[in-house]
Amino acid sequence: MIINGRQVASTILSEIAQQVALLKSGRPKLAFLLVGEHPASQTYVRSKKKACAATGIESTLIALSSDISQEALLSQIALLNIDSKIDGILVQLPLPPHIDARAVMRAVDPAKDVDGFHPLNLGKLLLGEDDGFCPCTPQGIKTLLEKQNLPVNGKKVVIVGRSNIVGKPLAALLMQKKPHCNATVTIAHSHSEHLTDITLSADILIAAIGKPLFIKKEMVRPGAIVIDVGINRLNDQTIVGDVDFTPVSAIASHITPVPGGVGPMTIAMLLQNTYLSHIRRHPWH
Ligand code: NDP
Repeated sequence: MIINGRQVASTILSEIAQQVALLKSGRPKLAFLLVGEHPASQTYVRSKKKACAATGIESTLIALSSDISQEALLSQIALLNIDSKIDGILVQLPLPPHIDARAVMRAVDPAKDVDGFHPLNLGKLLLGEDDGFCPCTPQGIKTLLEKQNLPVNGKKVVIVGRSNIVGKPLAALLMQKKPHCNATVTIAHSHSEHLTDITLSADILIAAIGKPLFIKKEMVRPGAIVIDVGINRLNDQTIVGDVDFTPVSAIASHITPVPGGVGPMTIAMLLQNTYLSHIRRHPWH
């Protein structure tokens, strides 16, 4: 069965829109910081802004030149941190090489860090504390599984990829001692030996690698659930995932397509976090 992430995300966006319409404290507002003219980043920000508009969340785009200094970028973030109208700050990655992305992530007020990349929020996730922000892609994957009634509890989850934005926080999330979590999680990466043996052991296989069609049918246990996080642009501009979709979909019990799987869920979770930030900052909402 193909999991329709677009449909699940659209239901979540409608729910957010209903909640936003009921707010007495004004509309939540999300600020995007876009440095340079990276075409994929521009596309991502456009989609996120469109989703904001559809839910009644206000958004503002601060487009900065690719040669902006680190100091000037940090000053922009400091201004957004103290702007009481701003509930969420999203610095679109990647940043140009002369900018220290870690310093930028740390500069965002953790209370407005709707991407969930600040060390404080990642630490809270690791500790199982609920008053931070969970990164959007991991949260989107967990929500997608939950909405499809696919149990994670006690299941063997294999995540291929250990990035700070997907693999690591996803492992922390799915292993939590909480409902819809409690998975037995294995993380694999480019140094993992016998990768196929590892992936074949998965009840739920999650690919977050960034290599087109990397996960072949032979790497998937028949009946497994396959979640494809990858977004890879081929030379002919086609977008494909990290999973060799057609053959793998023939043996998987459930699989997410690319596009239309995890991507829309990531955006839905960003808006959910922005709404959450707004109501935390306006307890009288
Ligand atoms: P990174 O490049 O930061 O991480 C990739 C991971 O894959 C690394 O841990 C790397 O291992 C591992 N890897 C690379 N090659 C192999 C290999 N041959 N065998 C096993 N593991 C390997 O990528 P991201 O996590 O940022 O993104 C992954 C993919 O997900 C990308 O396509 C990205 O575009 C997409 N993405 C999609 C999102 C969505 O909303 N759908 C959101 C975020 C990302 P090592 O650590 O050893 O280098």
